[in-house]
Amino acid sequence: MKKTIIALIIIVLIALFPFVRLDSIQDKYQPVKETSDFEIRGDAVSIFAKGLSYKTISQVPQMIDSAAFEGLFVHLQRSFPLVYSALSIDTLSTHTLWMKLEGSSTQADNILFISHLDVVPVDPKTIKDWEALPFAGEVKNDFIYGRGALDDKASAFGILEALETMLASGWRPAHNYYFCFGQDEEIGGTYGARLAAEHCREQGVSFRVLFDEAGTISIGSVPGLEDTPIALIGIAEKGYISVEVNFEQPGGHSSMPEKENAILSGAAFITSLNDDPIFKPEFTEPLQGFMDHLAPEMSFGLKWAFGMRPLTNSLILSSYQKSATGRALTTNTAVATMVGAGIKDNVVPSSSRVVCNTRILPGYSINDIVDAYAERAAEFGGTVQWYNDYGSGPTASSSYESADFITLGQSIKSTFPNTLISPYLTLGGTDSKNFDGLSAQTFRFLPIPLTKEDLPRIHGINERIHVDAYHDLCQFYIDLFQRIE
Ligand SMILES: [Zn+2]
Repeated sequence: MKKTIIALIIIVLIALFPFVRLDSIQDKYQPVKETSDFEIRGDAVSIFAKGLSYKTISQVPQMIDSAAFEGLFVHLQRSFPLVYSALSIDTLSTHTLWMKLEGSSTQADNILFISHLDVVPVDPKTIKDWEALPFAGEVKNDFIYGRGALDDKASAFGILEALETMLASGWRPAHNYYFCFGQDEEIGGTYGARLAAEHCREQGVSFRVLFDEAGTISIGSVPGLEDTPIALIGIAEKGYISVEVNFEQPGGHSSMPEKENAILSGAAFITSLNDDPIFKPEFTEPLQGFMDHLAPEMSFGLKWAFGMRPLTNSLILSSYQKSATGRALTTNTAVATMVGAGIKDNVVPSSSRVVCNTRILPGYSINDIVDAYAERAAEFGGTVQWYNDYGSGPTASSSYESADFITLGQSIKSTFPNTLISPYLTLGGTDSKNFDGLSAQTFRFLPIPLTKEDLPRIHGINERIHVDAYHDLCQFYIDLFQRIE
C-alpha cells in the first residue's frame, strides 16, 4: 500500500513537471553601468606580500603583539600615502583602524567596508609542510604565501590598493566611505569591531550597506554545479552558544559498580545528539535565496526536484543531511566539544560534565537553544547552564532583492564574468555581526575564487593567493566603489 502511494505521488509530480517554471534570475546581475579602468600600481603585490610578514596573531586579547601591529601600521602609512592624507584615521580601540573618506554629496549615504588585520597562529609542527614560510611575505611561482594571504589581509590590502589607485586619479566619492580594519576578528572582535560599532551607536552613525569578508567564489563545492564558479554572498550569519550539561548520580567503589552512573548518563546524552538530533532541519531565508538563484542553473533532474518545492522539501532537506556543510546550512548544529568526569581510577564519579556548542540558525534566539538543550538533558537526568556566559544570536537576514545586493552581484560579474551569483548563509563568525542593527544591509563576500582543495588553506597549511587573483581582487573593489556611487 505504502509503495503504491509513493508511486502515485511520483507520477503526479512528473505529470506536474511541464507546469514547473524555474527561470534563471542571473540576468539582473549583468553589469549595465560602464565603469572606468584604473591600473593598479606595479608594486601592489610586493606591498601586500610584505604586509603578511607582520605577525599580527590573535591568541587571547592579553597577548596582542603591539610591536607587530605598530610595524604593520608604519608599512601601511608608507605604502598608501594618498589614503593616509585624504582620509581621517583613528584607532578607536588599541590597534583597530577606523577610516573615513568624506563624500561630496549633501545627501551622502554612509557605506562601510570591514576586514581584519589579525590572523590565526601557525602550528609550529606544520611549518615544515609550508612551501614558503608563513611570515616571510614570499612570492613563489606566482603565488603570494603567508598567513593572512586569504583570511583576511588580502581584502584589507585590496581595499586600500583600490582606494590609493582611485585617489591618484582624482576620484572623489559622493557618499561617505568608512573602513574598519579590525585587530581581533579571529577571537570574536571584542576589542576591535565591537568598540567601533559602539562608537557608531554613540555618535548616531548608521550605514546604508556594509561589506565584510566570508563567502568566496566557490568552485566545485556546490553539488550539481561542480564546474561553475559561484559567488556565495553571506546575507546572514549564524549565532553562537555553548551550554554546559551536568549529570549527577551516586558514585562509589569501582569494584562493585551499579548499572547506571553519571558517566553513562553523559555518554547516552551525547549519543542522542547524533541518533535523534535535538534540532530538525529546515530552510531559512538565505537558503531559500540560494536555491532560487542556483536551481535554474542545474540539470533537468535537480531542476525538477527544486521546482517542485515545497512538495519536495523533505527530500531535499534529507539530502542536505548527508554532509557536514549541508547540516550546518539547514540546522542548529549540536555537538559535544568538551567532556569531563572522574577523579581516580578506582572511583565511580558522582558527576560528569558535557559542553556542547551550537551555531544558531536565523530565526532562533539563544534562549530557544538553551531551552531545547534543557529539555533533552532532562530526559537523561541532566541540568543545563550557559557556558562562559558568552553567546551571540544569529544576525538579521539582508535582502537579496535590494539594490545594493544587485550592485554587488554586478561588480562580481564585471570582474569574474562567468560566475553565478547567490545569497548564502555564513556559518562562522565575522566582525560584521557587531554592527547588526547599524546597517540596512550587510553582505559578506571575499572576492577570491577557491576550489575545494584550496579551502583547507584558510587557517591551514600553505595559505596563499595567486598574483592574478590578487590583481582581480583589487579590480573588484575599484569596480564596486564606482558602482555604489
Ligand atoms: Zn577572517
